[in-house]
Amino acid sequence: MEKNYRAELVGVLGDPVDGNPTGVMEEAGFEHDGLNWRYITVKVLPDDLDAAMAGVRAFNMKGVNLTMPHKINVLRHMDELSEAARVIGAVNTVVCREDGTLFGENTDGKGFVQSLTDTGIPLAGKSVCLLGAGGAARSICVECALAGAASVTVINRSKKRGEALAEVIRDNTAAEARFIPWEGPARVPDGTDILINATSVGLHPHGDQCPDVDFDTVQPGMVACDVIFNPVDTPFLTRAAARGARTIDGLGMLVNQGAINYTLWTGRKAPRDVMYAKLKSEFGL
Ligand code: NDP
Repeated sequence: MEKNYRAELVGVLGDPVDGNPTGVMEEAGFEHDGLNWRYITVKVLPDDLDAAMAGVRAFNMKGVNLTMPHKINVLRHMDELSEAARVIGAVNTVVCREDGTLFGENTDGKGFVQSLTDTGIPLAGKSVCLLGAGGAARSICVECALAGAASVTVINRSKKRGEALAEVIRDNTAAEARFIPWEGPARVPDGTDILINATSVGLHPHGDQCPDVDFDTVQPGMVACDVIFNPVDTPFLTRAAARGARTIDGLGMLVNQGAINYTLWTGRKAPRDVMYAKLKSEFGL
């Protein structure tokens, strides 16, 4: 039989990407499944996105992830969007179809919801409080609402972004949504079931930083989640745990969205445990 040395390509485009561990996780999955696929981590500056997307087509890539600062600007290259990507207004995963069209999806929030489901926490009927209104927060907020959360409270510094997110939820989902400006230590509303840090506060190399929260308002029995995965143990989670909250770190969200992407690109069930183990070893866990 003739050998085929050609590799299928996927990857991530963004800046910065040096610390992005997605490639090692995806390639662990490809190796496990015996697929001759590569995941390339590519630095693409803001003005070079159009050229990079032409490259994605020229290289016959199977798909790409987009990270900062391209998640919104890549929309103009999409032929079709998933319902979630349309509502969120951003794409983190592109699937290059056989017919040459590009399909845009957003898997960040889906990965987050899956990490809750994995720990036996259903969203139906729950009250969710989100700190932040950036890209990750938008994706998480929309998916929580679509998964049946009864209400969403957005706490954010920028009024414009926070109000816009609450409006997106009200206009597109059945959940109630409100915005609270972040002035002084954020107070977690009474009745909150799930509190999520979806800001970038605490991300490496500022792993000692904690979002300005009045932790006296974090109640035992709440679930506290962080999107930050580097470091895995954040001051936010440590302080919420000290108040008796159950905590969920950002690694589960990362591996779950990676597994969803794997399936979108390869059409196969992702070897999630293999990918998770690789990611954990990457972080020395
Ligand atoms: P954005 O830049 O789009 O949003 C950042 C958010 O953080 C904004 O709401 C911003 O508020 C808020 N913020 C920043 N600094 C502060 C501060 N000092 N106090 C209060 N709020 C602050 O980033 P993304 O949403 O794309 O990413 C956020 C984080 O999520 C990143 O650390 C990223 O690594 C992580 N992430 C994790 C994933 C995972 O799989 N675990 C997946 C995707 C992202 P304002 O609007 O007022 O500026």
